[in-house]
Amino acid sequence: MKNCSQKTVKEKKVFIQTYGCQMNEYDTDKMFEVLRHENYFHTDTQEDADLIILNTCSIREKAENKVYSELGRLRYLKTANPELKIGVGGCVAQQEGETILQRNSNVDFVFGTDNLFELPFMLRKIHKGEKITKTKRYDRQKVRNFVPEYTFQNLKHSGVRAHLTITKGCNNYCSFCVVPVTRGLEVSREPDQIIAEAERLVSTGTREICLLGQNVNSYKANGVDFVELLQRMDELDGLQRLRFTSPHPKDFHEKLAEAIASLPSLCEQLHLPLQSGSDRILHRMRRWYTIETYYQKVAMLRELLPDVSLSTDIIVGFPGETDEEFEMTIEAIRKIRFDLIYSFKYSPRPGTRAADYPGHLSESVKSKRLKILLETQGKIVREKFQAFVGTEHEVLIEGNHHRKADSVTGRTRGNHPVSIKNSAKQAGELISVVITKANQNSLEAVPSSEI
Ligand code: SAM
Ligand code: SF4
Repeated sequence: MKNCSQKTVKEKKVFIQTYGCQMNEYDTDKMFEVLRHENYFHTDTQEDADLIILNTCSIREKAENKVYSELGRLRYLKTANPELKIGVGGCVAQQEGETILQRNSNVDFVFGTDNLFELPFMLRKIHKGEKITKTKRYDRQKVRNFVPEYTFQNLKHSGVRAHLTITKGCNNYCSFCVVPVTRGLEVSREPDQIIAEAERLVSTGTREICLLGQNVNSYKANGVDFVELLQRMDELDGLQRLRFTSPHPKDFHEKLAEAIASLPSLCEQLHLPLQSGSDRILHRMRRWYTIETYYQKVAMLRELLPDVSLSTDIIVGFPGETDEEFEMTIEAIRKIRFDLIYSFKYSPRPGTRAADYPGHLSESVKSKRLKILLETQGKIVREKFQAFVGTEHEVLIEGNHHRKADSVTGRTRGNHPVSIKNSAKQAGELISVVITKANQNSLEAVPSSEI
């Protein structure tokens, strides 16, 4: 006789390829969690997968092109295994929708940035042999818990460091940026829900949380603003470190600078995207600050925290950018001396104002400017890293070094990567170290107790 209790549900495997920013990484974690409830388990190998999802990014054309070449490569897997299902999510999916299905016969479903929690419904449809596109946005309210609680209440374990999205979308419409088109207008999650997710992360092993939003400092929900949210996060038991990205310079004020200087868990580190050192270009970018106000805000923060670690985003070759205007960006970089710069060649994006601006520059001009910027910043980082040698830092250990058997790796509060020799400490523990060597992109150290 058949024993129903012996019937086992077949485990299926999912591979997710993530492109782009931390917000997409967070969305990918959520997809895994949604799919775990549908009996899909994570695999690192595409060949093993029953389901492959590309979580896409369209911030620059290069990122978008990668998706189409990956879809081309996946064709052979679908031919070898016709049961394999392929889905495309994220910003390219939101932007292109149905067209992706029309142009790629191997794709089974396409879902937008508001639709990832509808994955179970979409999977049922595609398993019946249907092809499906879901890119409909929900009504934009200023406050909405766009992450369902079951995706964090049932978390089993999480990494030492975790991301936590507090807002999605953006109202700023910078002239170069596709985010308001792909992610819609800004929505904030309720503070209690954010705290509940943070508590769950901490209870499953997370020691550092980075709050995410396109413009985190404009967060506002149920009367709680961004600084008040940081204060509530700082009170969480067991959370050792707190960070956030990205604040917009126009909304960066003294209250936030004071929070960075005074809240114990909030790290002395700030990513403040500058984009350009020229006021004319900043105006054409619709950034709504000047280089002078940016300098003033950096000075205000450095007054409170002289050793604060600063990083930024820079775009070179914005339409109409002259040699002199590019030189102003270089001058700003020399003056501010950032610890880290993410630099990009301007890439025209569909649906953005700058795409229609006159004066688009050639690839060779953009490449030349990018090279100058990287060389300038490279020299600054070498000098800054060299100055770290002999200084003492607190490091949060993330795990074993992938090449050196006698070392572990982690980050300083300033977010600098460090490898530490002869440490008996485990992932998730804090250690005080002395920096012994500066490499190009990382630091080496030994425990302070050995010195
Ligand atoms: N919300 C953040 C802010 O206000 O700066 C930025 C988010 S965006 C995902 C990350 C960075 O990508 C931007 O700061 C900008 O430097 C870069 N970026 C955005 N659109 C771009 C474009 N069309 N071309 C080149 N870089 C771009
Ligand atoms: Fe894009 Fe500007 Fe919004 Fe940042 S603030 S996401 S750059 S529109």
